[in-house]
Amino acid sequence: MTKQEQSILTENNYLDASFEQWALILDKIYGKRNEQRSISEMWLRAVSDASKVGEAVRKSDAYEAMLYLTHTFGWVITSSTKLLKLEFDGKPALLGSDSKPHNCLTNIVLSKYPSICPYCGGVPCKCSSMRKTVERESKSERRLRLNKVNLQAKEDGILPETISGLSNMFEDIYGQVHYGSSLESIAFHFLEEIGEVASCITSLEDGKGRHRELVPYNIQLPEEIADVVGWGFAIMSKLSTLAKDADRLVQAFNGSQDKPESLSTSWNSTHILPKYLWREFYSNSEQQYQCHHCKSNPCEC
Ligand SMILES: [Zn+2]
Ligand SMILES: [Zn+2]
Repeated sequence: MTKQEQSILTENNYLDASFEQWALILDKIYGKRNEQRSISEMWLRAVSDASKVGEAVRKSDAYEAMLYLTHTFGWVITSSTKLLKLEFDGKPALLGSDSKPHNCLTNIVLSKYPSICPYCGGVPCKCSSMRKTVERESKSERRLRLNKVNLQAKEDGILPETISGLSNMFEDIYGQVHYGSSLESIAFHFLEEIGEVASCITSLEDGKGRHRELVPYNIQLPEEIADVVGWGFAIMSKLSTLAKDADRLVQAFNGSQDKPESLSTSWNSTHILPKYLWREFYSNSEQQYQCHHCKSNPCEC
């Protein structure tokens, strides 16, 4: 099978989708429209959808939360596609802390989270019990350490490549930690990170090269994007562990005729995002990928 054939998502393999496969599909639907938008205009739409996630969480509506989370991830994916090609002051918009440009969203996530918690190095995360040690390390020391861990993990071939693999990774690191946190506090964190990305983008567009701690914004930006992805998965994980909410998600995905009690056992957080991306951007009746809003490909919104 050629690489191109492998990259085609079908009804049979969409659960194993990668961010890069969705980047290609969403580029076909939205690429032309997004060419005319600046990156801050695009991210404003991510902010808009993320605020609806916040509203849905406040109203305890799991289905709406997941729907808008999926749309937010759509913007995370398409904004990353744009940022990967973008330069500010002649420098790539997304730079690794090893000063190499990033090449895809999955690597952006894994650079900050190479299958471990970036702060305590633990799986599961042990930050709360070793706060002093964690705080002793400077940000530049942490970046150096993570680069080494990332290189080693790549060599060992243990880094996930699919969306469900990334979801599992975050579950392994933070599942226990978030067990004791409320959905609201997790959603707050997610919104905070969405805002941090906005802040990096506006600083880069304004021509400010460096953060007050002397970290270039184009190194900070991909780290913030990784945080958005991590907290997004944390919301999904939480939704799937709240039984009532999980049932609602399953019903919404499978159609209302299904009985929720027969479904919740087969439903776990791993595949929520691949399922909802498929649900929102693929039409079973039209047998094509399309914009969830205008139902066209390419999007005519
Ligand atoms: Zn930790
Ligand atoms: Zn559209």
